[in-house]
Amino acid sequence: MEQLRNQDPEIVKALNLELGRQRNNLELIASENIVSEAVMQAMGTVLTNKYAEGYPGKRYYGGCEYVDIPEEIARNRAKELFGAEHANVQPHSGAQANLAVYLAALKPGDTVLGMNLAHGGHLTHGSPVNASGLLYNFVAYGVNEQTFRIDYDEVRKLAFKHRPRLIVAGASAYPRTIDFETLGKIAQDVGALFMVDMAHIAGLVAGGQHPSPVPHAHFVTTTTHKTLRGPRGGLILCRQPWAAAIDKAVFPGTQGGPLMHVIASKAVALGEALQPSFKDYAANVVNNAKVLADTLLAEGLNLVSGGTDNHLMLIDTRNLNITGKDAEHVLDSVGITVNKNAIPYDPTSPFITSGIRIGTPAVTSRGMDAEAMKTIGKVIALTLKNSKDEAVLAQARGMVSALSDRFPLYPGLSY
Ligand code: PLP
Repeated sequence: MEQLRNQDPEIVKALNLELGRQRNNLELIASENIVSEAVMQAMGTVLTNKYAEGYPGKRYYGGCEYVDIPEEIARNRAKELFGAEHANVQPHSGAQANLAVYLAALKPGDTVLGMNLAHGGHLTHGSPVNASGLLYNFVAYGVNEQTFRIDYDEVRKLAFKHRPRLIVAGASAYPRTIDFETLGKIAQDVGALFMVDMAHIAGLVAGGQHPSPVPHAHFVTTTTHKTLRGPRGGLILCRQPWAAAIDKAVFPGTQGGPLMHVIASKAVALGEALQPSFKDYAANVVNNAKVLADTLLAEGLNLVSGGTDNHLMLIDTRNLNITGKDAEHVLDSVGITVNKNAIPYDPTSPFITSGIRIGTPAVTSRGMDAEAMKTIGKVIALTLKNSKDEAVLAQARGMVSALSDRFPLYPGLSY
């Protein structure tokens, strides 16, 4: 870091501030994680210098013989990890991966069934402000008002009513197992293609903690930076007959030159996910989420759907007389990072919300165990129940500090 330190102290100062924040706070944003130093190192390499439009062996630039190596490794590891027929590792993000599938599978104006954003779906599954909602005719399905679980009967009815070309499954804030087999069957029965965006749960699928969508879907997209614990980016898996169309939809369809330094880092992360220890990691993420959920419930907090099957949970904050926005803010003030999140059938605006989303991937990567989850649950309850009591908030801050110190992050790293 010597050159960077000498050349650009302003940036180095920001890097150290962020490193300090990550070290001293508890990261409970369900879509975030903490990558290994090997994954970070692969990104800071000479591969950032290289243009490599095209695919391994078929590039539009000279000098690509060596950048082909990490891309080929990344593709093969992705296929092996998820048992997929084809992998494209070039999407710059999850949103890019989804857009590429839409470009490959749909014509503008086609009807698509996707999960309602207000019920836990993602912006790229048909929100009117996103290209998906602007270019295609998305019809939303959601969760049942009593169980807060996906209403598969409603999905079937909507599918037969609207006859979509594509059904999209996957979510950003759904704490329960998604039944890909049932959704795949609905798609088959109605003659639709089936896409699963497994961004949130990809690491759990890789680690055997969530049923895999791969046997049931024509296309599976994911981010690489959530439970999968890689660099920020996207990935598409598909069946062989769709391989050429997907590759064409990524480049030249929606992107230019691939980020080869990020692709090398994806390869490193996928290599980690193939190790037996990643199975333990995924099991710990799910177990930690259960312990945290049980602790919160025992403290009298309400969880949407009553608990969790995966890495995340949604706290309905209404019985605590605090909005999601204020809950996010007060937790931040004691060193716990979460995000406000609308709950299904939320009576308030998306800027205020009646809930917060919390997840265990990052704290689990940091080595935190079930005992630590009990402490975190207690600190969250203490903070939300006493959000205006400075003495209690100081106590909560102390508990967070003690826990952060017990689980050091990136020891030895400095900028
Ligand atoms: N799909 C789902 C289900 C997500 O939760 C997210 C991000 O939160 C994305 C796609 C988009 O990923 P990105 O932010 O990399 O574009």
